[in-house]
Amino acid sequence: MNETIAVVGAGIAGLLLARELKARGEDVVVLEKSRGLGGRLATKRVEAAVFDSGAQYFTAKSERFAGLVAEWAARGVVAPWPGASAHRWIAKPSMNALGKCLAEGLDVRRESKVLKVQRDEGGWELTIENQKAWRAGSLVLTAPLPQSLALLLAGGVALPQALMGELAALTYHPCLALLLTLEGPSTVPAEGLAFSTGPVRWIADNTQKGISPGVAAAVTVHVSPAFAAEHFTKTEPELAALVLPGIESHLGSPVMKVTLQRWKFSEPTTTPAQPCVWLPDLGLGLAGDALGGPRVEGAALSGLALADQMKAKVDA
Ligand SMILES: Cc1cc2nc3c(=O)[nH]c(=O)nc-3n(C[C@H](O)[C@H](O)[C@H](O)COP(=O)(O)OP(=O)(O)OC[C@H]3O[C@@H](n4cnc5c(N)ncnc54)[C@H](O)[C@@H]3O)c2cc1C
Repeated sequence: MNETIAVVGAGIAGLLLARELKARGEDVVVLEKSRGLGGRLATKRVEAAVFDSGAQYFTAKSERFAGLVAEWAARGVVAPWPGASAHRWIAKPSMNALGKCLAEGLDVRRESKVLKVQRDEGGWELTIENQKAWRAGSLVLTAPLPQSLALLLAGGVALPQALMGELAALTYHPCLALLLTLEGPSTVPAEGLAFSTGPVRWIADNTQKGISPGVAAAVTVHVSPAFAAEHFTKTEPELAALVLPGIESHLGSPVMKVTLQRWKFSEPTTTPAQPCVWLPDLGLGLAGDALGGPRVEGAALSGLALADQMKAKVDA
């Protein structure tokens, strides 16, 4: 019998879950479509500039996640955001470093994009882009939920109707990140700047954050969910023309280069009651921030909750 557990997605939910499973002796393989690790804990390099382009920082409100963060801090993997007054954690040297660290010692297959998942008597068959089909005994999906449901749909896997209705109702806000390289130093506050109205939601200078020493200023701009929904398909120059005039007074130096990153699935719009889904009869689990809550901590707790539920079944 195939005992391998396939985990789709090397974001924080998938990696923490895979670590828990491996620690108790399970055979676990993580399949990740991109070259990078950490999912939306993302860092992007543009020439000499380095940007945290997805999650900017994370907080640890629960005892369980705070315990993990304390361990990572003791090892120097995370640190408080320099200059920030509240307790905001960042990974060192940049956000994707946490994904890299959590992937250490795991069998993570990068550039393995799962296209469809099918269930038969022997377990799961995964169709992977440009690779041979692959089999596993159990399957865990941790991509943004609409993408996970699309994989099940493509493979003709039917979930219980009520559950399917609940999951299909969980939607995400889009986001657009404009990554700005400035000609000189910025006047963006070291701890970043949040806006409650207007097209822009957040700006932060990655040079002051300590991750982009090679340029005078590398500023991440995140637009609001409403602006992103309205202008999602606009081009880089169109977006720059719409967004930059409103924030120029905060930047302090002229913009030299603009790079756009689109996030179709940025943050979930709601948090459901259950932190994960485990269907032992199918050998199928679902985890991620759409279930655990719309932040890094929610995604982490979702992965850990699923590991607990899968263990409960093994122990029963
Ligand atoms: C712009 C932006 C700003 C944010 N700001 C913050 C913040 O400041 N603080 C905070 O706490 N949170 C923030 N978040 C949210 C936070 O990043 C997420 O909640 C968290 O990282 C989600 O983790 P996850 O493991 O659930 O999903 P992900 O990180 O999305 O991981 C899923 C992984 O699955 C992979 N995948 C998808 N489909 C497939 C497939 N078919 N085959 C193989 N692999 C696949 C993806 O490539 C990805 O690596 C932000 C997110 C964005 C986008």
